[in-house]
Amino acid sequence: TTLAPATGVITPMMEQFIEIKAANPDSLLFYRMGDFYELFFDDAEKASQALGIVLTKRGKHQGHDIPMCGVPVHAADDYLQKLIAQGFRVAVCEQIEDPAEAKKRGSKSVVRRDVVRLVTPGTITEDKLLAPSESSFLMALGRVKGGTAGNQASFALAWIDISTGAFRVAETSAERLLADIFRVDPRELIVAEPVFHDPELRPVFDVLGRVANPQPPSLFDSASATSRIARFFEVATPDSFGTFSRAELSAISGTIAYVEKTQKAERPPLSRPEREEQGSTLFIDPATRANLELLRTLSGSRDGSLFKAIDRTVTGGGARLLADRLMAPLTDPAAIAARLDSVSFFRSETRLCQGLRASLKGVADMPRALSRLALNRGGPRDLGALRAGFEAAGAIAELFSAAALPAEPAAALAAIKALPEALARHLSEALDDELPLIRRDGGFVRAGYHAELDEMRALRDESRKVIAGLERSLIEETGIRSLKIRHNNVLGYYIEVTANHHSIMTGSDAAKARFIHRQTMANAMRFTTTELAELETKIANAADKALGIELAAFDRLTAEVVGAADSIRTGAEALAVLDVSAALALLSESEAWCRPLVDASLAFEIAGGRHPVVEQALRRSGEGPFVANDCDLSPEGGAKAGAIWLLTGPNMGGKSTFLRQNALIAILAQTGSFVPAQSAHIGVVDRLFSRVGASDDLARGRSTFMVEMVETAAILNQAGERALVILDEIGRGTATFDGLSIAWAAVEYLHEKNRCRAIFATHFHEMTALAGKLPRLANVTMRVKEWEGDVVFLHEVGKGAADRSYGVQVARLAGLPEAVVARAKEVLHQLEEGEVSGKTNRLVDDLPLFSVAVKREAAKPVKSDALGEALGAINPDEMTPREALEALYRLKGLN
Ligand code: ADP
Repeated sequence: TTLAPATGVITPMMEQFIEIKAANPDSLLFYRMGDFYELFFDDAEKASQALGIVLTKRGKHQGHDIPMCGVPVHAADDYLQKLIAQGFRVAVCEQIEDPAEAKKRGSKSVVRRDVVRLVTPGTITEDKLLAPSESSFLMALGRVKGGTAGNQASFALAWIDISTGAFRVAETSAERLLADIFRVDPRELIVAEPVFHDPELRPVFDVLGRVANPQPPSLFDSASATSRIARFFEVATPDSFGTFSRAELSAISGTIAYVEKTQKAERPPLSRPEREEQGSTLFIDPATRANLELLRTLSGSRDGSLFKAIDRTVTGGGARLLADRLMAPLTDPAAIAARLDSVSFFRSETRLCQGLRASLKGVADMPRALSRLALNRGGPRDLGALRAGFEAAGAIAELFSAAALPAEPAAALAAIKALPEALARHLSEALDDELPLIRRDGGFVRAGYHAELDEMRALRDESRKVIAGLERSLIEETGIRSLKIRHNNVLGYYIEVTANHHSIMTGSDAAKARFIHRQTMANAMRFTTTELAELETKIANAADKALGIELAAFDRLTAEVVGAADSIRTGAEALAVLDVSAALALLSESEAWCRPLVDASLAFEIAGGRHPVVEQALRRSGEGPFVANDCDLSPEGGAKAGAIWLLTGPNMGGKSTFLRQNALIAILAQTGSFVPAQSAHIGVVDRLFSRVGASDDLARGRSTFMVEMVETAAILNQAGERALVILDEIGRGTATFDGLSIAWAAVEYLHEKNRCRAIFATHFHEMTALAGKLPRLANVTMRVKEWEGDVVFLHEVGKGAADRSYGVQVARLAGLPEAVVARAKEVLHQLEEGEVSGKTNRLVDDLPLFSVAVKREAAKPVKSDALGEALGAINPDEMTPREALEALYRLKGLN
């Protein structure tokens, strides 16, 4: 088949292609032709480049060559994965009728084709395209204007994992939109076009980049949402799932409409939308989430993340649940305690814990297998995955039968026991041990399951034996020892003899009548006999019937599985819950973590806290033990607000590590995990803010300083008394004086207005004076020791302020040339001397770099009677903090 003849006349196939392509302009069109998906025109050019495959031509269109490339159907998943990863969407267009049907309509008719599925980042189900331990969320943003809240728009987010059926919805607001999106971290966010183009929301979608996908507003129509939802779930009204706001209905409707749009005729087994109350999870703003490297490091890798350091789960479902929990720690002490009870239980019941984990290792990914089956993309191994899951569930139920369980595992056990027993039995009776990938290959139904199938298989196998017998007797009859009965797809079964023997088969009329000639090859001739043809028909019929029976069994089992979708999903979730609890118990045991006390107080008291990721890294590299540190931000002496720690110390002293470890301990505790500490008492944190490290925002054209200020502003504007704030080196990105004053004012504001628990690391030693003024502020410092002129970091947090910054020593450790280090030491020494004695130093005077500032000081010595003159001589923009402080003292002295 050619797409278009060279004359430029549009062929019917071309016409069909153009029509289908026009209906799917945003997607690459995979156009099925035989065993290939072909791409044409622009699609071909994009795909050949993205996939590194050859671009060819096929026919002409309007006088020009038509670019084309193709991928084999059997390897399509790999190519899809690459395209999706590069941000493409793909429309898969299949032949939807037998080519014979098309022929019946006329010789020029093309086979009917249609798009059966749109593959987008948020709607994939193939195992190859999904990481086992990562959820794959599709999210929809709903916005309605002028609801109950007057003219203000209200927002909601709904999100599903089509590969597991999870479906959740939550209200949000313009302010926290980005944070709520990052909490879920969807692969794809669909938004109504007008919302997408709203200039006020522009920054949000800019940050999201390709993840955000504008869609027609009709998908989100909140007026028709109710009926759309009811239709999808086949209920009279969605009220039975709970009461939803109009924005929530719009988001849910958007999700469903998009699923319908991308999955066409198929329906994934989504669970009913579950509502998340606002405030039930710890609010973590996007910058903090990124900086704390919860699931991924700033560079995007999973290695080095908190998740990687704590994940001991053995199932994909368990790993996904742990990641979900880590991204959304709780704020209700009772709910947190319930999770902790479960971890404590498994920690004390070591044998149960081990038995559970051994059984869980046999669990395949049940929810994903279920989804594929429901979407008609499943194979025998998906049924096998469910069988394995049911078997493991049975073993686990037995294991726990005599145990006195806390609430969470008890509920999980109930869900596991509620798994459909009959279906489990049917699967293990019907399915063979070894299963093929594709159902059309057959051979997956167990012998003894279906009498007629066994009969057909026997007939098929028997006939094969008969053929072997026939071969032997033909050799005897003809005397040709090299005679063979072979099989290929074109001829079916045939008798083959080498060319030099052909006269025996064709020499006499009798022989000619018996051996029907089929084919002459270079060195061989092929024949058949009526007997062989009959046998062949028998075998083919038997094989056909056998496959038919197997396919029917597959469909029956699939229908039964899909019918039990709800209980399978609940059971699988329960297995994931047990996996997470047992994994956290094991972690706490092997890493010597403790159970935190999380309550409604404002306490924050960590004894012997450690940074889980740094500690493990130090252990791996053999760089010596991690030094544990206390942190106490609890309110003291009747204060109704937590304390602020002002942390000073040299670079490399361990400041950032200490800041982060306390934030991570709070997150872990509220996730319901034990924590890396000797003891921990945490009054629930409702919002966690951090400004740590220089985030790499420069690519977006904002200076480091600007980013820092935007993030700091967000913190000061939003943090309440339950917040935990972690600030590192505020005010570093600008002139020293500006920086110091901003940092100074920020601490005062935190203390007086936000009144939250905070740790504030700074280089400005001048700020330690604040402790005299702010009662809840305490100075702490990273201890160092000097040894033969070098600095030794003790990584120990102690009370008090650092007396110096050891910058020169640190620079030396970094490998600055020895001469530079020596000179720097000299200069520093002289500067310090000069500062103490008030004299200008000759040596420094010699230095061009410093001469300007110092000379000015020398030229205008302060006179004891001229405060005004002294003031006039000061140029704050040109002073170091040390000079500034010095000047201040001097002025004070003059007064
Ligand atoms: P700073 O923020 O003060 O420059 P970091 O927190 O980045 O210092 O720490 C520098 C290095 O010191 C870390 O990479 C880590 O290897 C080590 N370190 C930090 N804290 C500790 C600790 N408590 N125990 C042992 N080593 C530590």
